[in-house]
Amino acid sequence: MRHTSNDMTLPPDLTVKKGSGAVRSKFPIYSNSLPPCNHACPTGSNIQEWLGLAQEEEYEAAFQALIKNNPMPAIHGRVCYHPCESACNRNDVDQSVSIHAVERYLGDQAIEHKWPVRFEAKHSGKRVLIIGAGPSGLATAYHLKRKGHDVEIRDSAPMAGGMMHFGIPAYRLPRKVLDQEIQRIEDMGIKIVLNTKVESILAEKVSGQFDAVFLAIGAHIGRGVDIPNADPEKVTDAVSYLRDVELGKAPKLGKVVVVYGGGNTAMDAARTAKRFGAQVKVVYRRDRANMPAHDFECVEAMEEGIEFHWQRTIHQIDGQQFTLEKMAIDAEGKPQPTGEFETLQADSLILALGQNIDTKLTKAIPDVEHKWDGSVVVNDNMMTGYKGLFAGGDMVPCDRTVTIAVGHGKKAAANIDAFLKGRIFTKVEKTPLIKLDKLHLWYKTDAEQSEQPATDPVERRTNFDEVLGGLTEQEALYEAQRCYSCGNCFECNGCLAACPHGAITYLGKGKGYKVDYDKCTGCNACYSQCPCHAIEMVAAEQA
Ligand SMILES: Cc1cc2nc3c(=O)[nH]c(=O)nc-3n(C[C@H](O)[C@H](O)[C@H](O)COP(=O)(O)OP(=O)(O)OC[C@H]3O[C@@H](n4cnc5c(N)ncnc54)[C@H](O)[C@@H]3O)c2cc1C
Ligand code: SF4
Ligand code: SF4
Ligand code: SF4
Repeated sequence: MRHTSNDMTLPPDLTVKKGSGAVRSKFPIYSNSLPPCNHACPTGSNIQEWLGLAQEEEYEAAFQALIKNNPMPAIHGRVCYHPCESACNRNDVDQSVSIHAVERYLGDQAIEHKWPVRFEAKHSGKRVLIIGAGPSGLATAYHLKRKGHDVEIRDSAPMAGGMMHFGIPAYRLPRKVLDQEIQRIEDMGIKIVLNTKVESILAEKVSGQFDAVFLAIGAHIGRGVDIPNADPEKVTDAVSYLRDVELGKAPKLGKVVVVYGGGNTAMDAARTAKRFGAQVKVVYRRDRANMPAHDFECVEAMEEGIEFHWQRTIHQIDGQQFTLEKMAIDAEGKPQPTGEFETLQADSLILALGQNIDTKLTKAIPDVEHKWDGSVVVNDNMMTGYKGLFAGGDMVPCDRTVTIAVGHGKKAAANIDAFLKGRIFTKVEKTPLIKLDKLHLWYKTDAEQSEQPATDPVERRTNFDEVLGGLTEQEALYEAQRCYSCGNCFECNGCLAACPHGAITYLGKGKGYKVDYDKCTGCNACYSQCPCHAIEMVAAEQA
């Protein structure tokens, strides 16, 4: 190649290993790393990949990339608490990418266009029984099917979906969306048997000739509390109440309802009772800042006219008179009784104090260990103490969310697959995490996060229509384009343009770049301008 530069400095003699003169010490290599959003998602969603495809308006390809890890994007785009967004690098610039909103857009597109799950798998001839058709059981079945195994799910309920059906109200998760995402899983050839309560795991395993069992029965027993004089006829628990509503058997609670508790389930029970015309008062022993419910749920409840009585416990109930004790918050943030009382009038009480696990099934199995709260202990491979019996979701020690349950499904399926092949699953080591300080952003964008529309708070109190709307195609595209593609090359050609020695060649869409190490002087130019940190400078022998 002709040297046309005015710079008279001789190029370094790369054959010289010792003595004077420039010697290359480092070379660039293209290497994709882990974006923080992906790291934070309990399903390990390859967010940057599907946002990249959405940017190209390749929506079906984006959907197929998304469901490699998470089979229910329309559901997650609505109910996931999106830890991915709290970790997003864009938070430190303006606001996170609205990942859940793009996920929802892709999920809704898939439902509208009836995109199937495209996968190829060699039939293994192995059979797996899954007990529980909640998110964990469904996700395990889905991933096992993608690996070629036959799967049968049995559930005691008349509808599949677990707490997604019987807990999360329709104004947050429309039933059409839920049912269609479950249908797509069933359409893969997964058998779901409803109205079938499993009473003995081992007997069902033997009679059905199953090679392994995955247990995901959730935590469905509402916790109670002793309140002096309370009339049991006027007290229910939140999960039973929400379940009755879902089954079309909503109990008559009277004009004024007290909900006792400050978690997300309390918010759902309160907002549901409101929609049945009740005046609802939430009583919670701590202050708002220490409420376990997400703040947005509390805000939406307040907008709907729900009253909050913070730092109060229910001391006694006499007919319609509820005596509340005021609480003081101590230095450790714990509520302490003050001996001061006040009263309010109400017709009934919904207890939203958490849920217990029904341990009858697992206590009967040898070597299955339980924690103090009844949760079942599993090892790193999601297996209980009984060989071939795996468990996940709310019934194992973990935070109880749909997304964690689905993440357990993916992990359990990988481990069950290995077990069926007589192996032990070993995790692929994670690539380095790329935080904002590792990006070399040479451009600035002024791009605020798109907002999802919400229905009018007064109107919505009277119906179960969905509260939050979705993004339009244009908004979803804009939102996808806000992604920095942290740690992953998006073929911006910056390195190609930056290289002073023409050492880089573009190989074509999706194929990335090649470095000609005979021309490369290790000058660092490509590395230091790569906006997403997809180039590493490594010691000469590693290149
Ligand atoms: C009111 C409420 C609102 C929530 N909102 C959210 C939210 O917005 N976002 C979020 O991420 N999480 C939310 N959660 C938590 C989330 O729903 C759960 O963490 C998740 O559903 C757990 O999934 P799972 O598959 O482990 O269990 P589950 O969803 O509970 O499913 C268990 C299934 O097992 C079946 N079963 C039980 N025993 C048997 C048996 N012996 N034989 C056969 N079948 C059996 C049950 O019928 C059920 O279908 C909410 C929970 C509640 C209660
Ligand atoms: S499932 Fe939740 S955490 Fe994962 S990408 Fe979707 S919104 Fe983010
Ligand atoms: S900017 Fe994109 S790749 Fe980076 S953390 Fe946010 S969503 Fe993930
Ligand atoms: S500079 Fe651009 S093209 Fe080069 S590796 Fe980084 S992102 Fe990819």
